[in-house]
Amino acid sequence: MRYLSIVFLSLTTVFVLSYCTGLNKDVQSVHMQAITIDTHCDTPMKFINKGFDIGAEHQAPSSRVDLPRMEKGGLDAIFFAVFTSQRERIEKNYDKAYTISHAMIDSTENALLQYADKAEIATEVEDVYRLSKDGKRAIYLGMENGFPLAKDISRVEEFYKRGIRYITLAHTKNNDICDSSTDKKGPEHNGLSSFGKDVVSEMNRLGMLIDVSHISDKAFYDVLELSNKPVIASHSSVRAICEHARNMSDDMIKALAKNEGVIQICILGAYIEEEDTTTMNFIKRKELRVKYNNFKYANDEERKQAWAEWDQINTDYPPVLPTIAQAVDHIDHVVDLVGIDYVGIGSDFDGGGGLADCQDVADFPKITSELLKRGYTKDDINKIWGGNFLRVFKAVEEI
Ligand SMILES: [Zn+2]
Repeated sequence: MRYLSIVFLSLTTVFVLSYCTGLNKDVQSVHMQAITIDTHCDTPMKFINKGFDIGAEHQAPSSRVDLPRMEKGGLDAIFFAVFTSQRERIEKNYDKAYTISHAMIDSTENALLQYADKAEIATEVEDVYRLSKDGKRAIYLGMENGFPLAKDISRVEEFYKRGIRYITLAHTKNNDICDSSTDKKGPEHNGLSSFGKDVVSEMNRLGMLIDVSHISDKAFYDVLELSNKPVIASHSSVRAICEHARNMSDDMIKALAKNEGVIQICILGAYIEEEDTTTMNFIKRKELRVKYNNFKYANDEERKQAWAEWDQINTDYPPVLPTIAQAVDHIDHVVDLVGIDYVGIGSDFDGGGGLADCQDVADFPKITSELLKRGYTKDDINKIWGGNFLRVFKAVEEI
C-alpha cells in the first residue's frame, strides 16, 4: 500500500511538473528520479542584505533560488555560499569578514528554521538521500573565499563545525591562501602560499571539499599536487569554448579527472560565451562599477543601494544571455575530453548566474531536456546532476 501511494505520488508530481513547465513526461520522469545538486549559489547574501524569505516564491532576475522554486525544479540539494569579497588584508577587514561569515550562517539557519518541514541544513552525503525521500530540500553550506580564515588555521575546523563543507580558496583577488585567476596585480605567491598549503592539509584532515574555482592556474596545480583527496571546481566552465581566466583549460580538466575530481559547469553568461561589451547592460554595469569605486562600499547602506541599482539595470536593460544549449556545449566538451564521470552543474544563481532560458532553479528540468535531446542516457544524467559530485564528496568525507 505504502509502495502504491509512493508510486501514485511520484506520478502525480511528474504530471503536475509536466503541466507546469510544458516539458514532456519522459523529461520530467528522468529529472525527478535523479538526485539533483547545484553546487553553488550566493543566496545567503540576500538574508543579510534584504531580509529575504526563503519560503516564499520570488521572481527572477532579482531572486533565482527559494524553496518553492527548488521544489518546482526538482532540485534536491544546493550549496549556499557564505561569501565575502576580498578586501585589503588589514585587521579591521579580517574581523569584518569573519563576523559576516558567522552572521550569514546564523541567518541561513534562522531562515530555514521557519521551514523545517520543507528543508534542512545538510552536512553529509547521506543527508540528501534521507531528505529527498521525505520530499525535503537539502541545504549545504560552502564558503566562497577563504578571507574570513585570516591567517588562523584553527578557523578551518571552526567553520567545519558550523557546517561549512567546502571552501573556495580565493575569490577575484589574491588572498593569504593563494593567487586568484583574476587579480589585476598578477600572482603574489606563485600559486599556493605556505599558509595555503596548511589550509589544504587541514581541509584534507577534516574531510572538507577543496574548491578550486576562482584560483589561479598555478594555485590549481599546487592544490592537486598537495591534496590527498579529489577536489571540486564548484562553479567553473570550459576555457576552450569561452576564453576567460575563471574557466578551466583542457589540461586542467584532464588533471582534475586524473585526480578523480569534478568540474561543475557555471551557468553565468560571461563564462559560457565571451561577453558583448557593446550592449546597454554591459555599459550601465560598467558605469555602476565606477560609481561605487569597484564595489568598495563605504557602508552597508551604500552596499544595499548598489545592489538595488544593479537589479534595476538588469530589469531596465535585460542582458542578452547565452542559452542552455550553449551551456550544455560545455558539458559535452568535458565529456568528450575525459568522459562522463567528471562534470556537474554549479549555477552561481544570486551571484550573477542565469541563462536566457534558465532563469532560476525552477528551470532546471530544461537542462535535462537538452541533455536527453543530445543522447545522454538516464545514468549519464544522474551522474551529471549529482552522482559525480556526490562521489567526490563521499571520498572526501570518509576520513
Ligand atoms: Zn564565484
